[in-house]
Amino acid sequence: MDLFEEALAKAGENCRELSFEDIKALLGAGESERPRLYALADRVRSRLLGEEVYLRGIIEFSNYCSGACFYCGLRSGNKGVRRYRMEPSEILEAAGEAAGMGLKTIVLQSGEDPFYTVEILTGVIWEIKKLDVAVTLSLGLRSPEDLRAFKEAGADRYLLKHETADADLFARLRPGTTLEDRVGSLRLLKRLGYQVGSGGMVGLPGQTVPAVARDLLLMRDLDVEMAGLGPFIPHPGTPLGGSPAGSLEMTLTILAVARLVLPDAHLPATTALGTINPRGRGLALRCGANVIMPNVTPQRYRSHYSIYPGKTGIDRDPFTSVREMRLLIESLGRSEGTGYGHSPKYAYTELHSGRESGVRSQKPE
Ligand code: SAH
Ligand code: SF4
Repeated sequence: MDLFEEALAKAGENCRELSFEDIKALLGAGESERPRLYALADRVRSRLLGEEVYLRGIIEFSNYCSGACFYCGLRSGNKGVRRYRMEPSEILEAAGEAAGMGLKTIVLQSGEDPFYTVEILTGVIWEIKKLDVAVTLSLGLRSPEDLRAFKEAGADRYLLKHETADADLFARLRPGTTLEDRVGSLRLLKRLGYQVGSGGMVGLPGQTVPAVARDLLLMRDLDVEMAGLGPFIPHPGTPLGGSPAGSLEMTLTILAVARLVLPDAHLPATTALGTINPRGRGLALRCGANVIMPNVTPQRYRSHYSIYPGKTGIDRDPFTSVREMRLLIESLGRSEGTGYGHSPKYAYTELHSGRESGVRSQKPE
């Protein structure tokens, strides 16, 4: 039996035992092998997480960023971006609209923008929690004190992708920061009681198959509740503007292997995948993914949140974005998740409004 067949058979029996060598063999699946890999990932998803697809409404509330990530269009050095900041009242209005459409998770995402102080953000989190939704934060690096305060105000989850588990590549692409620090922040988030999402980009220039295998092992080691894996898309206003994008095939293969390595983690069908291929998100939901993040940012801001170019959905309003994702779920014969969509590890908190999950919440001063 060749290495791929051996690893696939092992995954069919007990995915939690896949080794570094097994993972590399699965990632190397050839064209004729991929359908069986995808089918196994789909079965594991169905067995452990069922047919429900969870919608997370994402509000991109500021595109100011002090970061200098080589891959990202929002990097501070990119002068071609029209910067915006949403007022707290606008964020709450967008969140109210999303909750009114029946979404049970609101994701607050931004560049690294110190304008939003801990006072402002804890106030926003506290108000959003009144809508009976789970709150995910995706704000980049913040101080341990801030992270604790956000948790105490009621935040449930934090999305901080490690981006790549190759320490040298990480240091080259995120000048002034290290993989070790990023992983340290992820471990702190776990200790603070957050459900943690990590992940990375597929097809970064210089990324190797062993590095992707290490991405997955790092997330298994961190015991993440979510893994966001989407293709890298070059932005012309960045140092990586001339590099090729990650491919659909490679992204789907990595997603399928991620489903086997992290069997009960939430895996989103990413917007980036929907951007490189109009069928990308539907295909992802059939090879392991179980989450979609419709954009509920007011339409007037969307085109300026240009992490990468050509982002799908920037010409839509929140209602249209959510409706499209619901139609997609229906077309696949799946159903929309009705609860908060917490990790199965935290399923008991489905019984509560969600503010009770993790540490006790405190109304901010
Ligand atoms: N500032 C926060 C959150 C916004 S960036 C942070 O950095 O964590 C959100 C994600 O966008 C990043 O984690 C990265 O994985 C992704 N991203 C950035 N540039 C990208 C690109 N060119 N192609 C695809 N994804 C990209
Ligand atoms: Fe800023 Fe996040 Fe983009 Fe880096 S990836 S430049 S931190 S928005």
